[in-house]
Amino acid sequence: MSDKYDVVVIGGGPAGYVAAIRCAQLGLKTACVEKWKDEKDEAVFGGTCLNVGCIPSKALLDSSHKYVEAQHDFEVHGITATGVKIDVPAMIARKAKIVSQLTSGVKQLFGANKVVGIAGAGKLLAGKKVQVTKHDGSVEELSAENVILAAGSAPINIPPAPVDNDVIVDSTGALEFQSTPKRLGVIGAGVIGLELGSVWSRLGSEVTVLEAMDAFLPAVDGQLAKEAKKILSKQGLDIKLGAKVTGSKVSKGKAKTVTVSYTDSEGEKEAVFDKLIVAVGRRPVSENLLDDASGVELDKRGFVVVDDTCATSVPGVWACGDLVRGPMLAHKGMEEGVMVAERIIGKKTQVNYDLVPFVIYTHPEIAWVGKTEEQLKEEGREYNVGSFPFSINGRAMAANEKDGMVKIIADAKTDRVLGCHIIGPSAADMMQQMVIAMEFSASAEDIGLTMFSHPTLSETVHEAALAVNGHAIHGVNKRKR
Ligand code: FAD
Ligand code: NAD
Repeated sequence: MSDKYDVVVIGGGPAGYVAAIRCAQLGLKTACVEKWKDEKDEAVFGGTCLNVGCIPSKALLDSSHKYVEAQHDFEVHGITATGVKIDVPAMIARKAKIVSQLTSGVKQLFGANKVVGIAGAGKLLAGKKVQVTKHDGSVEELSAENVILAAGSAPINIPPAPVDNDVIVDSTGALEFQSTPKRLGVIGAGVIGLELGSVWSRLGSEVTVLEAMDAFLPAVDGQLAKEAKKILSKQGLDIKLGAKVTGSKVSKGKAKTVTVSYTDSEGEKEAVFDKLIVAVGRRPVSENLLDDASGVELDKRGFVVVDDTCATSVPGVWACGDLVRGPMLAHKGMEEGVMVAERIIGKKTQVNYDLVPFVIYTHPEIAWVGKTEEQLKEEGREYNVGSFPFSINGRAMAANEKDGMVKIIADAKTDRVLGCHIIGPSAADMMQQMVIAMEFSASAEDIGLTMFSHPTLSETVHEAALAVNGHAIHGVNKRKR
């Protein structure tokens, strides 16, 4: 006899645990199977995001940023800080504490919402049955009216630099260094490479980033990507573009190093590092998730095939988060989790995939939503641009946070905002007001007519919106009206 549920969720990351909570809120008898375990073999919910992703990386970004501020940025305020030191194990322990607070928080939320948490690895069988292999090797079977697959993603490995979890690590290992490596290599100038490269560079590592592509952050609006490269290079990241890694050799002995060979436009090269982070993207975790008889379709790269509503090829089987197409972002997965839960009870909830916000948590942060200028040019669409720099914003000056700008792009005919791109202090939080505005189809004029508190960093958004139509008050308008 198998335990019967209305919904069984496989995977308790942001997509899975949010889906499970929403299902339970909607009155569905829900279980969530999770294979991540603690030392007592109990399930740890929160997935990549809480355990080894969003949260721990931001904890280290915040700690390392404070260290830089104390060392270099206090002086301008008239504050002298001498003997500033970093205790790396203490910083890592603080991060671990935050992770544990948040993962236990999810457990409590499950309790409060009556979601049944089950420890073990889930596998979808035919007929919406789920086989759970427990950590002691025993096997149990669950059956459900609906199954939600939310098994997430894992780092991609590349043959020229195999992760040994000692000298060569992936993003998970890079969150656990107990001392600052003197020479740190990073393969991949993507989000993880730049965020974790920044952490260790701030703490004193000489960081070299090897990026295979010739373009830097090609998904980011070109003007901002250029500005970001300038700022990050000034901060000490040595970003080498067009650098294709061909091999790596870890030395023997006590103080191990790794020699990385790569080719770039000048030919073959070598670089020696004390640690090497491989951050070349992530892949869906669909292996051992589906029995051949389950009927669920995978694409060539292992993603579960779903439609816009996250329905798979099998009725009553859904999939969301990093396991399916689209950006691998926690908030995208969470929205999909809610949508699936509500669709199960017959609501017509949708996710607006055109307005997924993106953030790179370097300092300054880089955040964007909607279309870049490059995309609009390619689409042949006419648009107006308004931008405003933080260097002349009063609040940014007061905070000594003057790098960066806000750029708003609006349709030339309708004035509807098509994209917003921010590089600057608190860009992630500031961007959110533009996501809301765009969700309500705001025009640049609408934002210009909205009252913004003074003095705030957000006034930069206001002025950029005014500048779209040549009306910025506190800056020189490129577009005259
Ligand atoms: P996951 O979080 O990967 O969760 C999947 C869960 O399923 C895991 O707990 C796994 O153990 C479990 N599982 C897998 N297979 C099975 C099985 N067969 N049975 C039972 N359980 C199973 N995103 C952001 O939006 N903002 C950020 O700032 C950000 N920072 C990041 C930093 C780093 C270093 C990394 C690596 C990622 C970051 N991400 C960030 C991405 C974010 O973590 C993911 O997009 C998000 O966690 C995906 O959620 P998910 O629920 O789909 O999958
Ligand atoms: P990514 O796709 O952002 O970047 C990977 C980079 O590695 C790319 O620039 C790619 O060209 C490069 N690359 C690939 N193969 C290479 C090779 N052999 N040699 C050199 N360079 C190579 O991937 P990531 O940084 O690993 O992040 C994985 C996912 O996690 C992303 O999809 C991202 O959405 C998510 N994430 C998000 C955040 C955030 O939202 N702030 C933070 C971290 C991770």
